[in-house]
Amino acid sequence: MANPIYAALPTTIFSIMSGLAREHGAINLGQGFPDAPGPLAIRQKAADETLNGDNQYPPSPGLPVLRQAVASHYARAQGLDFDWAREITITSGATEALACCFLGLLEAGDEVILFQPMYDSYAPVIRRAGGVPVLARLQPPQWRWDQAMLEALVTPRTRMVVLNNPLNPTGVVYGEDDLRVLAEVCVTHDLIAVCDEVWEHVVFPGAVHRPLIALPGMRERTVKIGSAGKMFALTGWKIGFLCAAPALTEVLAKAHQFLTFTTAPNLQAAVAWGLENSADWFAAMPFDLARSRDRLSEGLRREGFAVLPSAGTYFLTVDLPASGVLEDDLAFCHRSVREAGVAAIPVSAFYEAEPVTSILRLCFSKRDETLDEAVRRLAKARDLSIRAHNRGG
Ligand code: PMP
Ligand code: GLN
Repeated sequence: MANPIYAALPTTIFSIMSGLAREHGAINLGQGFPDAPGPLAIRQKAADETLNGDNQYPPSPGLPVLRQAVASHYARAQGLDFDWAREITITSGATEALACCFLGLLEAGDEVILFQPMYDSYAPVIRRAGGVPVLARLQPPQWRWDQAMLEALVTPRTRMVVLNNPLNPTGVVYGEDDLRVLAEVCVTHDLIAVCDEVWEHVVFPGAVHRPLIALPGMRERTVKIGSAGKMFALTGWKIGFLCAAPALTEVLAKAHQFLTFTTAPNLQAAVAWGLENSADWFAAMPFDLARSRDRLSEGLRREGFAVLPSAGTYFLTVDLPASGVLEDDLAFCHRSVREAGVAAIPVSAFYEAEPVTSILRLCFSKRDETLDEAVRRLAKARDLSIRAHNRGG
């Protein structure tokens, strides 16, 4: 009746935890979204485009004005030199951009190296495209690879590596040295790199994001993926960017034309405007978020939680065993949302293979009062968990 890959898929942890948060009236530090409405001027531009602009089908690769704005933005922000007409495709979010890469670039039996913890949309679509995920495991607290580890994963069937940088859920921002090791392996073995950089602008003072496509030998073999939802804290907007050399873009654009063909023109126009008019936003946003990260991590540390470092994304992670919690992260998340009124994401949801981790992911792009109350509730959840463990249940 159904395709077995999709039939066997669970509902994503993000939907499950947001559903439970609604059901229990809990604070939701699970699914990653800010509780602020997002930049007013960009939302006003979208409203204006909806009322007065053209709301019929845009060109399949995206509005030229947005493709030009994406190319200029990456030239200014990252020193990249994309030809907007031949190298930029606009998608319905990074999720569609990722699907375009897997459906458009893989053949049956191609192996794809994935690093766990990994975002949950990668492996199912790779499998549906006929690819074979080859799962590596990064270890806390560094979450890094080295050359020997990478070389051991490569076989004659390896076609692609997927990198998420900055990394959701751990907040690691990979630096030049790590990227160089990865790039050398890609060049040596003639691999395509799909680089999920949706968090590229959510990088805190002290860390620097470097796009993999800028490394030697990578310009022709990397697909760089961005997301306006993350850039402008408008996560529901679902405007993604596929940036790649013409030979790759030609086939990615074909995958896109039969996934969604195009995406909403009012939002495309507003994002184009935003990219050209948001220098202040890009300068201030990382500082505001770093303050929220610090507020949450300091609060949690005061309560005795073992908080791991986060250099980017909306997320920080907590080592549960080191915080005194002995149940696993999934069980703790269920207890926490039901009994203490705070939702989180278990990092084990970012792994396929056992044994899983016991690490909690918390989203800190929230108001101060919300973060403070969440700390109190997490401390309560931990106490409940310890008590239940001592009772033997
Ligand atoms: N990749 C990663 C690593 C993400 O965290 C997300 C969303 N949080 C996406 C892809 C999907 O992005 P979009 O909403 O633009 O589809
Ligand atoms: N990427 C978001 C997160 O990590 C969730 C997106 C979704 O709900 N699919 O929280």
